[in-house]
Amino acid sequence: MNQTNQIVHEFDRLTNHKRILVTGGAGFIGSHLCEKLLQAGADVLCVDNFFTGSKNNIDHLLSSLRFELIRHDITSPIYLEVDQIYNLACPASPIHYQCNPIKTIKTNVIGAINILGLAKRVRARILQASTSEVYGDPDIHPQKEDYWGRVNPIGMRSCYDEGKRAAECLMMDYHRQNGVDIKIVRIFNTYGPRMAVNDGRVVSNFILQALKNEDITVYGDGLHTRSFCFVDDTTDGIIRMMETPDGFLGPVNLGNSEEFSILELAEKVIRLTHSKSKIVFKPIPSDDPARRRPDISLAKVSLNWEPKVCLEDGLKETIAYFRKII
Ligand code: NAD
Ligand code: UDP
Repeated sequence: MNQTNQIVHEFDRLTNHKRILVTGGAGFIGSHLCEKLLQAGADVLCVDNFFTGSKNNIDHLLSSLRFELIRHDITSPIYLEVDQIYNLACPASPIHYQCNPIKTIKTNVIGAINILGLAKRVRARILQASTSEVYGDPDIHPQKEDYWGRVNPIGMRSCYDEGKRAAECLMMDYHRQNGVDIKIVRIFNTYGPRMAVNDGRVVSNFILQALKNEDITVYGDGLHTRSFCFVDDTTDGIIRMMETPDGFLGPVNLGNSEEFSILELAEKVIRLTHSKSKIVFKPIPSDDPARRRPDISLAKVSLNWEPKVCLEDGLKETIAYFRKII
């Protein structure tokens, strides 16, 4: 069997009638993940405290008998019987994770301890949604998994960056000390339908501003870069990682290796929306990473994965979504 067939086979074997917990399942990425897992035949338990997630994101899943929704905050323990866990609970947009930074780090640390404790008790495999933010403002480019990062431990972003780094540490220590079956993915900027309208991330901000013909707010000179991955590609990579054989822990970068300046993104959005918006420059937030692009060679080899959706196509789909909801 070749590697792709092996992964597909493994995916079918494990997801069929498996009970899968998705923490943060009512969020942007989590809701797409719940949907894919249900489509693959799994029973899905979605746990969310609705801080940044929304019932609208999972409304279409509620009629399925294989889908359960539990309002719960992972900073408190929870007792469930499951076979696999995707730990996504954590606000991801800088505005949201900075509005209650102590809660953000509690979610990353105490939340991870609670969910790892659950994984240990029921011997479930657990995947941690980590982030490119563990690399901080990187001084190597593109970022590979063996790069240890350049993170400000006392800055505005550290509740998230250091929280996610601590969560990775906890995953590894539960694995080494207690034999918990863990997987870690480092997700780079992901966008697509169901991003929250108020979450302040660059793709949703620019699309909403363009659709309303308002000024497009570029922070700094707009020459800093990001690589944008469409949510279908990200969730595909996350599931493939969960289905890799025992002993392969990661971390694995998941992202699109095409890199764009923020100014290029603004221009693309204006063109695709036929907007009359003008670009305006605003002060750049502190510790905003200057460049970010994943090296995805490990994901290509180990998961047989690479993004399929180019930025232009992904933006068109995302624009159509925001047009519908505003
Ligand atoms: P999101 O904010 O849309 O989703 C996070 C979900 O977690 C929300 O539904 C929220 O209500 C829930 N949540 C937050 N704190 C919780 C708590 N204490 N208990 C229970 N639920 C809680 O964000 P997203 O973009 O979907 O991100 C999902 C995960 O992926 C996060 O862990 C994030 O760090 C990671 N990630 C996302 C990106 C990205 O670009 N979107 C990049 C890197 C990593
Ligand atoms: N950004 C911007 N205008 C906005 C929102 C964000 O120029 O209205 C910039 C932000 O400063 C950063 C990049 O876009 O350099 C990506 O920001 P986002 O919040 O989407 O994600 P992150 O900084 O976590 O990568």
